[in-house]
Amino acid sequence: MRFLAFRLLAFCLAAFFVAPVQAAQLTQFSTIDALMSGVYDGPFTIGEVRRAGDFGLGTFNALDGEMVLDHGTVYQVRADGSVHRMGDGERTPFAAVARFKPEQVIEVPAGLGLEELERFLDQRLPSANLFYAVRIDGEFRSLKARSVPRQQRPYPPLAEAAKQQAVFDFGPVQGAVLGFRSPPFVTGVNVPGYHLHFLTNDRKAGGHVLDFRVEKATLSWQMLDDFRMRLPKEGDFTGADLARDRQQELNQVERHGR
Ligand SMILES: [Zn+2]
Repeated sequence: MRFLAFRLLAFCLAAFFVAPVQAAQLTQFSTIDALMSGVYDGPFTIGEVRRAGDFGLGTFNALDGEMVLDHGTVYQVRADGSVHRMGDGERTPFAAVARFKPEQVIEVPAGLGLEELERFLDQRLPSANLFYAVRIDGEFRSLKARSVPRQQRPYPPLAEAAKQQAVFDFGPVQGAVLGFRSPPFVTGVNVPGYHLHFLTNDRKAGGHVLDFRVEKATLSWQMLDDFRMRLPKEGDFTGADLARDRQQELNQVERHGR
């Protein structure tokens, strides 16, 4: 009996020490190609988005501005440049979120531009084939961001809607650039490479990041090795043409104005 109790104790201890580390999850709502094709209304509430994470980005129904999810609060950066806190009852057609727990914090060399920073971080990440949550906090000499205006039905594809984007040129500005680096194989599902949004420290401005130059900032990242995708089971998504290759359009939309 004592032997059995010992075996049981040993088993419990072993189970405790070899218990797998919990995977870090990226939850995505709908797909980037659905958004590209003009699916701008989704069934997902901001409440659902916030339950899946405290960090992330996306947009809102009718493509009404850029979403920044920072420390559990969802902000909307409208095309007029104003920023609003969004309640749990609002909805989104596309969002990507995680629970941010940085694994490494790095000082960013002053003067780095967006593309230089992407290369700087690429050299430090363990692998290009996983997802990463990425955040840059600090002061930027300059930063260029955009937002998209609310659309009316019938919705144009994103390449058309983005032609009406408002571009904001910030001078010296303090804030957080945050988002994801996704592996190359997510083509059609998410944005391969970096997708970053910005919010000023005073929460009064922001947008989808087109470019910046760092003055003084820290960069933090977290590897995400678990991927979850929620899909709309009704509405425009179900009839959208998602067989087309939209990579070229995506590059134009994501990086337009850089
Ligand atoms: Zn964006």
